Amino acid sequence: MSIAENLIDIIKEEMAKHNVQVLKSVRLEIGQLSAIIPASLSFCFEVMTKGTDLEGADLIMEMVPLKSICRECHETFEILDYTFICPHCACTDIQTIAGQNLSIVEINAI
Ligand SMILES: [Zn+2]
Repeated sequence: MSIAENLIDIIKEEMAKHNVQVLKSVRLEIGQLSAIIPASLSFCFEVMTKGTDLEGADLIMEMVPLKSICRECHETFEILDYTFICPHCACTDIQTIAGQNLSIVEINAI
């Protein structure tokens, strides 16, 4: 619930900043490792925006794969099955560079 709550707060702030009243759609990028389940997020969003200016807006969600860079050979690669090992040199000293967060890409409102 709190994720949807934060999301709604940010959207409201942005809408106020741009002086728009009716939310049409929001595009989100959801990191694979963010532990967010799109179906439950959209359900919470729907429930919490009912009867507000945000009601009926489309929540467009794109999943972002988990990406890492190897500190040893500096190759970037996707993490599959949560295996945190570099596929190029088998090193485990890797750093996650994408796929950890939820981010708002675009807010479409009038
Ligand atoms: Zn490597």
